[in-house]
Parts: sequence; structure tokens; C-alpha cells
Amino acid sequence: MSGIGSLSAEEVEHHRAAGEALRTILDEAAEMVEPGVTHLEVAEHAEARIHELADGAAFPVNISIDDEASHATPGQDDKTEFGEDLVCLDVGVHVNGYIADAATTVDLRGEPDLVEAAEAALNAVLDEVAAGVDTGTLGTTIQETIESYGYTPVLNLSGHGVEQYDAHTGPNIPNRAVDRGQVLEAGDVVAIEPFATTGRGKVGEGSATEIYSLERERSVRDRTARQVMEQVVEKYRTLPFASRWFDLMRAEMAVRRLEQQGVLHGYPVLKETTGGLVSQAEHTVIVTEDGCEITTA
Ligand code: MN
Ligand code: MN
Repeated sequence: MSGIGSLSAEEVEHHRAAGEALRTILDEAAEMVEPGVTHLEVAEHAEARIHELADGAAFPVNISIDDEASHATPGQDDKTEFGEDLVCLDVGVHVNGYIADAATTVDLRGEPDLVEAAEAALNAVLDEVAAGVDTGTLGTTIQETIESYGYTPVLNLSGHGVEQYDAHTGPNIPNRAVDRGQVLEAGDVVAIEPFATTGRGKVGEGSATEIYSLERERSVRDRTARQVMEQVVEKYRTLPFASRWFDLMRAEMAVRRLEQQGVLHGYPVLKETTGGLVSQAEHTVIVTEDGCEITTA
């Protein structure tokens, strides 16, 4: 057993364990997605399996439909069922804080080319990733691949690094051509996630928010709000969580109040601004000297 670049052997093992668990969970979740099944059933199954197979969720299971690209997760008692939808499933788990993040698109709508465009862009980039590669060139590959299918990449979403208990760090992996990005180093752990859309390629914030993370701990007087904050600090630390995760009366109201007080940061659902359909493909990789190891393969 040996390390990779800046990662110790132990850190590599944690990343591998997280990736292996995630692969199983994401496949199971994708298998469940069909008309008549609720979003909540899939999210709760996947999150229960996360607690069996890993140490916890890196973020709530994201279930994004059609023009939604990210940050959508069911609310408490959500009865929404899958229909003839384009469904992006995005799941993150951690083992001892080391994160795996992967996504797949389940097509109940009949958009195979759109799904393939994101997958092909991801596969093309995975062939290029190695220490010394500039992330700008990866963005060029993503954009060119998706455009070759006649679609547009979502330009204002990007891949990212992951660090212990931090699901979104540098380096940034753009989904479009940029002159200069960041140079990858051996031991960097990055999530690469091209999004392809039939729209113009920009997401904006929708009205719903179900995902939050801790912004700043402070004293709060309201009892439920205080219990929510204490659970967040203890269980989720800085990782994003869902307002439905609290087994407390009026927790969702307390979460909203904590957001207003600056204790929590909310992540509104991101939607393609022209209403385009969005597909997504994502893997987490460890960058090596001559390529990468896909932890979520
Ligand atoms: Mn993801
Ligand atoms: Mn990601």
C-alpha cells in the first residue's frame, strides 16, 4: 500500500472505500428510478445505504428533473413521483471525511443523445487527466465534445476538488474552454462533472431551497433552531445537509430562520435559465503522475 502524490496511503484507502460504496449506492438508486416511484423513496433508500456502506453523506442525494441541474432534493413528506422525466442523480458519500461524488442521468423521457453527450465529455476528459495537465484544456474537451452532439455545456457549473469534510474546493474544472485553468498535481482528488443542455447553457437560482450548510455558529434563542444547529455542528460539520433530515417538529421552519440569521447557507435549486433539458455525468478521480484513478468507477 502506498500513497499517491500528496495523499498518504491511508487517505488513498479512504477515497477508494468512499468511491466503492458510492458506486453501489448510485447504481441501486438509478435502478429504482421509474414512473410512479417518488423522489423521496429513492433519496431515502440511497441515504440509508450511505449510512450502511460509508460514514455519511457528503451532501443530500440530488434528484434534478428536466431543466433542473443541481441542488434539488425532496422535502419532508414530498410526494413527487417520477414521470416521463430526464433525471440527474447526484450522490456524495464520505469515509472518515474523504469524499466521493458521482452522478448519472436516468432517461425516462427519450433523450439518449443528450445523456450520451455528457457521458462522452466525461470519458474524453478522463483520458486526458494527469499531473501537469491544465484544467483549461479539460474544459475545452468538455465543450467540444458536447457541442459535437449539437448541445451546449452548462457554462456556469464546474467540476471541483474535494478535501476532507469539504465537498467543493479547488481546483476548478471548467465545463467550457478557458485560456488558463489550474495545473493538476498528483494526489489532487477532483470531481469532474460535465452537464449538457438543449438550452443556452446557463443555470440560475430557482425559488425552492432544500439544501443548506453551516455558515457561522452562533447562539440562538429558539429551542428547535438551537437543536438543529447543534445537530449540524455535530453530524454534518461543514457538509451540506437537507432540511428533511431533522427528526424535530417544525425543523424546516427552524432551518429557514437559521438561514435568515446567517447561521446556515442555503443552496437554491439551479435551473437552466432558458428551460433547456439538462443531463449530467460525474466521477471522482485521484490524479496520478501518468493519468488518474477513478474512485467511483
Ligand atoms: Mn456531484
Ligand atoms: Mn460534484
